[in-house]
Amino acid sequence: MSAADSIRRTKIIFTLGPATESEAMLEQLFRAGADVVRLNMAHAKHDWTRSIIRRIREVSKRVDREVAIMMDIKGPEIRTGDLSIPIELKAGEIFDFTVKSGTSAEEIRSVDVNYKDLVKDINIGDTVLVDNGLLQLEVLSKDEARIRCRVLIPGELRSRRHINLPGVKVNLPAFTEKDRADATVGLEEGIDFLALSFVRAAKDIELLREFLVEKKSKVRIIAKIEDQSAIDNLDEIVGACDGLMVARGDLGIECPFEELPIIQRRAVRACLAQGRPVIVATHMLESMISQPVPTRAEITDVANAVFEQADCVMLSGETATGKYPLECVRMLDVIARRIELEEISSNSFPVVFTGERMKVLHSAVTLANELPHSKILTFTRHGFMAQGLALLRPARSCILAVTPSLEVFRHMRLLRAVEPYLMPLASDPNETIEHAISLLRREGRLVSGDKVVIATDILAMDRLVDSVQLRTVQ
Ligand code: PEP
Repeated sequence: MSAADSIRRTKIIFTLGPATESEAMLEQLFRAGADVVRLNMAHAKHDWTRSIIRRIREVSKRVDREVAIMMDIKGPEIRTGDLSIPIELKAGEIFDFTVKSGTSAEEIRSVDVNYKDLVKDINIGDTVLVDNGLLQLEVLSKDEARIRCRVLIPGELRSRRHINLPGVKVNLPAFTEKDRADATVGLEEGIDFLALSFVRAAKDIELLREFLVEKKSKVRIIAKIEDQSAIDNLDEIVGACDGLMVARGDLGIECPFEELPIIQRRAVRACLAQGRPVIVATHMLESMISQPVPTRAEITDVANAVFEQADCVMLSGETATGKYPLECVRMLDVIARRIELEEISSNSFPVVFTGERMKVLHSAVTLANELPHSKILTFTRHGFMAQGLALLRPARSCILAVTPSLEVFRHMRLLRAVEPYLMPLASDPNETIEHAISLLRREGRLVSGDKVVIATDILAMDRLVDSVQLRTVQ
């Protein structure tokens, strides 16, 4: 089988922005195989958010590819305020970050910061990094209204830039008023995932979970791990979330950069161990923001995420503001498909097989692994069967997952090797299997002679029991 014929197992998430918000571009990106659209709420107004979600749904329908929508809410993120014009910071310049607007001395330039306790939590000598570390300052002094700094690494400071304070325990709420307002708009418009930024402990996720329960929402929570506290609490965070994002942009600033590849590997394994989908994010094709081809190192970085068996790879600036968004999605598609043809060890993960259902799913995957060119077919009302099978990382077979729920269909867009299908389930499980095989034949996904390993419940006497069947398509 060539790379082009097969189902791509690694899913592609792209961040929507000015470069990708037009209907024409969305259409091309969906046709190119994008699976999930990410909306970054650091930059989004509510009217725009509502209209873009509706546009995504309309275009999805038109091109007959239902993508999922992930709203990325900013959590306890520290940002500079608005500036009427950018400030060019010079090396050695003295500069103020103010928590009480307009309190800086006239001869010293300044910007407001959205973190009132900054002056309490930061110490003299600490480092302030702005705009992903492009600007670096050292704290010289502080009072109740501002911190005074010296510029170490100069550059241009623009409005609403992200601030990192490595090593400082930031005392901001995990789920802010702005997050609540953003998430409410997302839920009203029918998003599928909420990605919470700067998750530091499992209790941060519980706050968002309570909000979703209050709203009677089934939206799934993606925990973005971005600093040392998240790494210290990795296992409990993985246990509490529905999926994890390794947010390498902030992680690479908040933690020693040489730790980053180790953190990524640990995070992917922790997710495999606890059965959560995992996203590797940021700078995957950074040079393609301005160039039509990636660097060799970027190709290898994407390949490594596929070798590590992450569920998804994610694009940020490349598709939000870059010059080549479509080429970026196509590039991820080509690299992932090619790497997936290589032998990827599927039995070295510390998966904990708890429960009878996981054992049944394990036997389905074992059987599929022994049958060359076989496919796995499953039926899933809540997505758990598909998630369990995906977690077991079948060596070659794709997982064709049939669900009656559009919501579950979109949730499965995140799962490695899972190709979702929407179809009503009959009350008789055997009839459901027959219908699904006919559907998959019509779609060209199954042909006569194909071996299909079916993991589903069947009626035994008057009880539903989990089963594994092997059928040959007639
Ligand atoms: C990151 O830091 O890698 C990330 C994905 O977060 P954001 O783009 O929201 O800063």
